[in-house]
Amino acid sequence: MEYSRKITDPVCGKFVITIDGPAGAGKTTVSKELSKRLDYKYVDTGALYRGIALAADLQNVAPEDDAGLERLCNSIELKFVSTDNGQRLLLNHSDITDKIRTPKISMLASAVSARAVVRTHLLDLQRKMGREKGAVFEGRDMGTVVFPDAEIKFFLDASQDKRALRRYEEIKTKTSQSYKDVKQDMQKRDKNDSTRELAPLKSAEDAVVIDSTDFTVDKVVELMLSHIENIKKTNK
Ligand code: C5P
Repeated sequence: MEYSRKITDPVCGKFVITIDGPAGAGKTTVSKELSKRLDYKYVDTGALYRGIALAADLQNVAPEDDAGLERLCNSIELKFVSTDNGQRLLLNHSDITDKIRTPKISMLASAVSARAVVRTHLLDLQRKMGREKGAVFEGRDMGTVVFPDAEIKFFLDASQDKRALRRYEEIKTKTSQSYKDVKQDMQKRDKNDSTRELAPLKSAEDAVVIDSTDFTVDKVVELMLSHIENIKKTNK
C-alpha cells in the first residue's frame, strides 16, 4: 500500500473516496459499510447507468441510438433518496431500485454506458453530487475520469470465479439464471466495460489495489480505514 499521497483540498476534513472495480468484486457491500463507518454519503454510480438503461428499455430506445439516448437523458430525472428502507433510486419520482437489478438491465446498462451522450450526462450529475465531499463513490471510472483529484482511491478486484459466485449467491432467489449463466454474463460485461473506448474499467495509477478474493467484507473495510487514517496522518 502507498501511504504518501498528499491531500489537495478537503472540505471540513472530508474527502471524496472512490472505489472502482469489476462486477462482483464486493464494491457495493464494502462501499456501504465504509460510508456508514465514516458517516459519509454513498453513491452507487452503476445504479445511475442502470436507471438510464431501464428508461431506454421502457421507451424503446436502442443502445446505439445516440439521438434517442440524448433526448432520453434530457427528459428524465434520476435521484437517490434515503428512506427507512435504505437508499432508493427514483426515476421521475417512481422507485426503480429493485427493477434495475435484472440480468437484462445489467447487460443493457453495460451497452448504454459505452455511449458518449450517456457518459457526458452522468459525468455532470456525479460531479455535482461530489461537490460537498464526504462521499464514497462506487463505479468503474470514479478514480480515473469522474474524480481524478479524489483524495482517496481504491480499486477492488477478486478472481473471476469468486466474483461470479458472489453475484450468483446474491441473486439466486430472484432469478432463474444458473451459476454458469451468471459467470458468462459477467465475463461479457467485464469485456465490454474494460475494452470500451470511453472511460474503460481500469485502476487509476494512484489507487490502492485490493484483491478481495480471500478477504471478508470486514477485512477489506479495515484495510481501507487504515489507509485513510494513514493519509490523514501524513497530511496533518
Ligand atoms: O456497478 P454495476 O454492475 O451496477 O454497473 C452496471 C454497469 O454500468 C456496468 O457494467 C458498467 O457498464 C456501467 N458503469 C459504468 N461506469 C460506472 C458505473 C457503472 O460504465 N461508473
